[in-house]
Order: sequence, then structure tokens, then C-alpha cells
Amino acid sequence: MENATRFNTIAKPTWCPGCGNFGIQSAIKKALLSLDLQPYEVAISSGIGCSGKIPHWINVYGVHGLHGRALPVAAGLKLANHKLVVIAEGGDGDGYSEGMGHFIHACRRNVDLTYIVHNNGVYGLTTGQVSPTGDRGFASSTTPHGVLEWPFEPLALAISAGANFVARGFSGDTKHLSGLIAEGIRHRGFSFIDIRQVCVSFNPAKSYKWYQERICKIEDEDHDATDRTKAAAAVLRDDECLPVGVFYRGSKPAHEDGLPQLAAGALVEQNITDIDVHTLMDELV
Ligand code: SF4
Repeated sequence: MENATRFNTIAKPTWCPGCGNFGIQSAIKKALLSLDLQPYEVAISSGIGCSGKIPHWINVYGVHGLHGRALPVAAGLKLANHKLVVIAEGGDGDGYSEGMGHFIHACRRNVDLTYIVHNNGVYGLTTGQVSPTGDRGFASSTTPHGVLEWPFEPLALAISAGANFVARGFSGDTKHLSGLIAEGIRHRGFSFIDIRQVCVSFNPAKSYKWYQERICKIEDEDHDATDRTKAAAAVLRDDECLPVGVFYRGSKPAHEDGLPQLAAGALVEQNITDIDVHTLMDELV
């Protein structure tokens, strides 16, 4: 299919006008087109939240699952059919709160998939509760006097947990973001892309203008993305700049590379008619 609109859906997003999710959706579609992929070659798994609705609005295979569980579903999809390009999606609340355990283990397990987190510091779908990346002092519906905790840094955690590709983008720079997503998909192993996303309804102080005045690109700074220690230092820098770009590119083998069961082809294509499961069932049941 040559059509440049092949990833469009008939249904239209119901996000708030001006929401950063529009930019992310557009960047994903651009990335898939740039890789010359077809809708039947891609699957997206998502959790719960405004961002979790994205499989409804990109024309690929999709699973809109449980809160915080986008990653185990994505890993299952990939292991069942490792020919698919698999993307996991979710928000910062979904991925860094409910899904935190899955996040850490996905980083170290290194299944070849791309995890995209729409990070806006707040639970938007449920009308504005603070998330683990909400700034200290942020007044939300659950913290009317301001958050007392400090936000955590997901990229530093991903690097220390063993993620093979670690990047950050901005929902207001679709061109740059689509390049990051395309590279994350191409990079073998677990690719993690956290996106600074604008939520115009429940975190309006962090507007497009606010980000545009602070964002800088680490590729303009001669950053060595093959060095884990330098990658962590670049993430944890303490200045006015909010860096975006590729912080780390690792070269670990993917989880699937160690699975002899996949050598005969994708599991979904293997002939299982002559496998006798009764012995196993007798043993387990
Ligand atoms: Fe977007 Fe925020 Fe509206 Fe959700 S609540 S659709 S994240 S602007």
C-alpha cells in the first residue's frame, strides 16, 4: 500500500484541543511511514489514560489493556510473533506508577520493542491527580497545597536498569520526535522514549511556550550516546536546559536472540498440530 494516509483511522481522537497527544500520534505515524511499514506489520499495546487510547486512532493492530500493563502485553505480542514491530504506549502515571515493576524488568529483559511514554506529570483522564513525575510544589486535585515529594527521573532509571536505547522527545516538535521513534523502532532490543507532553487541561503551566523556552537538543552538544556513564550524567544535568534526543544507544543482544524456540520461525506460524500437551497437562493439573 503506497498511501501516505494508511495509518489514519475513520474514528477521530477525543483528546482536548491543543493536547500534546496529537503531536505524538502524528510523530508515530510519520515514523512508521518513514520506515515504509504497513499497518499489518505493526502492533501497539497501551495502558489506561488519555494516551492509552492511541491504538484506537492509529491504523495498526492494537490492544488497549489494563492500567500499567502495556509492557507485558507488548512482550507477549513480540514473542508470539517476532516479525511484528511492537510498540507499547502509556502515560507517566500508567507506566511509572501502576506499571513501574514492569518498566524496570522490561529494561533489563531487553525484548525488541519500543516503549513510548507520554509524560505530562499528571493523570489527565481522571481529571488531574499528580503523577510520579509531577514537580514538587505542583498543585493538583490530589495535592491542593502542592506536591511534597520530588519527581523521579525515568531516563536515569532506564539506563541503570539496562535499557538498550534511551531517548527523550517533545510533543511540540513532531519532526524531531518522529526521528527518535523511527530510530527506537530500528534499534534492536528494548527502546525507551519518554516524551515531554503538554497537558493543556490539567498542567497548563507547562505550556508549549514554557517548554520551547527551555528545551535543547543533546545532539547539538557532541554527546557520546554509546557511553552509559555519560548518558546518565546528561540525563541528570542540573541547569536551565531540558535536553531531548538520544541519550544512550546500547548493543546488547535482544531477549529473543537467546530463545531457540524462535529459530524455526514466529511461534504463530509454527506447526503445533503434532505436539502432545496431555503429558504436560497431566503433570500440571
Ligand atoms: Fe490531553 Fe490532558 Fe486533555 Fe488528557 S486531559 S486529553 S492529556 S490535554
